[in-house]
Amino acid sequence: MVLNEDEIKKYLAAGEIAKSVKKDSRKWIKGGELLLDLCEKVEKRIEELGGAPAFPCNICIDEVAAHFTPPPGFSGTVPPEGLVKIDFGVHVDGYIVDTAFTIPLSPRDREIVEVAENSLLKVSEILKAGVKISQVGEIVERSVRSRGFRVIRNLTGHEIDRFNLHKGLSIPNIKTFSVEKFRKDMVVAIEPFITYADGSGEVGEIENTYIYRFKHLSIDYTGEFSNIVKKLHNSFKTLPFCERWVLNRFGDIGKESFKKALEYSRKNLTFYPVLVERNRKKVAQAEDTFLVLEDSAINLTSEQV
Ligand code: MN
Ligand code: MN
Repeated sequence: MVLNEDEIKKYLAAGEIAKSVKKDSRKWIKGGELLLDLCEKVEKRIEELGGAPAFPCNICIDEVAAHFTPPPGFSGTVPPEGLVKIDFGVHVDGYIVDTAFTIPLSPRDREIVEVAENSLLKVSEILKAGVKISQVGEIVERSVRSRGFRVIRNLTGHEIDRFNLHKGLSIPNIKTFSVEKFRKDMVVAIEPFITYADGSGEVGEIENTYIYRFKHLSIDYTGEFSNIVKKLHNSFKTLPFCERWVLNRFGDIGKESFKKALEYSRKNLTFYPVLVERNRKKVAQAEDTFLVLEDSAINLTSEQV
């Protein structure tokens, strides 16, 4: 895959928006804030800056690692000592960047956040065309272990394509024996998730699901709820969405009909259940999206460089 100048411009533009949103939203995380308000503020800021949210803003606290976004009316707030992960995506005309950061509200969790960020930084230093994908996991695992923490082994980074947040390639955070290599013009999200030494180093699914995605760009709309399914599919294409977005965007779709439409189109959808550390230990995450070049990689989403 080769990117043309216009495509690269769109990735860079999405990245600039993400940097700015990240910088602003870091200051919004405080004990007692409504999770719902925080996510909506992040998504609104993306739009104000000329981008579109590529997926519902995720806000995951403590042992919750990924895939939580507040449903409509959710009254949960940031715990005063919470370990708060914000994960959001921006797209410009389908060109997506994906980024996440963790805020430790308790000084006891400062180190785990620093270790996660540091492992990502170490990867960014070696990233370029020709580097083996397996090197990422090697670097992350080594640097995290040396500090006495554990990598979550069943969460990975991923390649990104237009309107496709998770293209085929996964980028493990542990050592593997894959021989695949990074290629020029690849866009990749690197995202180490780590936990404490007494964590299991694995996440498991819990029953609740708040995020969904259509599997294909073309699906067959027939039968009951086909009108609703068609609306959702036209609007979100193959990008992830949530109930909150549907109810806000379509005044004529209510809670009940949304649930039924989901059930009805189950075979066309991917469901993303909330993922929780199996030993219920706290999890920190750091994520940036990179454009791989011949001799280096551009970090599209880091406001620190
Ligand atoms: Mn992400
Ligand atoms: Mn990601």
